[in-house]
Amino acid sequence: MPSGAVHIGENFKQVRERIRLAALKVGRRPEDIRLVAVTKRVPVAAIREAMAGGVEIFGENRVQEALPKIQEVGSDRCRWHFVGHLQTNKVRQVVGLFDLIHSVDSLKLAQVLDAMVKSRAGGQTVRQKVLIQVNVSGESTKHGVSPDRLVSLVKEMAQCHSLAIQGLMTIPPAHEDPERSRPFYQTLRELAGLIHKEGIDGVSMRELSMGMSNDFEVGVEEGATLVRIGTAIFGTRR
Ligand SMILES: *Cc1c(COP(=O)(O)O)cnc(C)c1O
Repeated sequence: MPSGAVHIGENFKQVRERIRLAALKVGRRPEDIRLVAVTKRVPVAAIREAMAGGVEIFGENRVQEALPKIQEVGSDRCRWHFVGHLQTNKVRQVVGLFDLIHSVDSLKLAQVLDAMVKSRAGGQTVRQKVLIQVNVSGESTKHGVSPDRLVSLVKEMAQCHSLAIQGLMTIPPAHEDPERSRPFYQTLRELAGLIHKEGIDGVSMRELSMGMSNDFEVGVEEGATLVRIGTAIFGTRR
């Protein structure tokens, strides 16, 4: 086992079980929640171990770190999601590699991404699936669009026909107590409901990406369809 005392496969099973219980607690179907194993600062050997243990989706938050790992591990037996802040000058490198980008947070980024997908598609219909990152807490250190600008951003983004908007993502303020995350996740779900009601052409709000190692059960209870989990699977990052 490359990672010493950390039993990645076992951790994954335990997290999956906790997701299942949280789902059942609120009457949801466990299979409606997908787990994204976040592999930032996790070596390829541990990623392979996770894959052997049943992980199907990996999340990376930095382009430079993700590219060589994806090249080495491949995308045949797993999918890759991009969960970190994406700069417009990195868009060229991410198109075609990530099944879902969780973190689109400006019209500018959406437009650059849209244009790149279109130009790579060579006349075929290819759509990059994206989520919009919302800064629900309003912390200045956090990326994401502010809730009051969200609806107008979605309407403008809907003009980017090579993007498939599938939902929302948020990162709450870091706290020991998972209950502190609940209001932020409730707000995200309400915002998704609001946008859904607008009935914007080509926009779906089926995905809610909310929940990390310390609070994913709260995320699931509040309607998450994607949870992004690093530490609880791979151990504490160095
Ligand atoms: C690192 C990271 C995670 C996972 O965090 P853990 O607390 O280790 O589970 C989730 N989402 C994003 C955007 C991250 O950067």
